[in-house]
Amino acid sequence: MSSTAELALRAPPADPDEVSDMTALTLDTLAPELTRQDRCDRCGAQAFVKATIPTADGMELLFCGHHFRAHELKLVAAGATIQDERHRIDEQAAERV
Ligand SMILES: [Zn+2]
Repeated sequence: MSSTAELALRAPPADPDEVSDMTALTLDTLAPELTRQDRCDRCGAQAFVKATIPTADGMELLFCGHHFRAHELKLVAAGATIQDERHRIDEQAAERV
């Protein structure tokens, strides 16, 4: 564990492909928030991630945290724009207590 952290600190700047991916993820957090009415396309749970597939009609897919993790690699590989609001899952859990 500690050796992994050390390697990360010493690592040179990520290659251009990785940097552009991370920039896209950061910018997407500025987009409008998903609401409680947005539901995972797979299981119907509240959606916390929106993925926009770069097709002609800009297809949008909604995912709960679980299903986004299940499909994340494929979505990124497809060049999808990811709006990740999973940080709000904990906030909402706190609200319900
Ligand atoms: Zn789901």
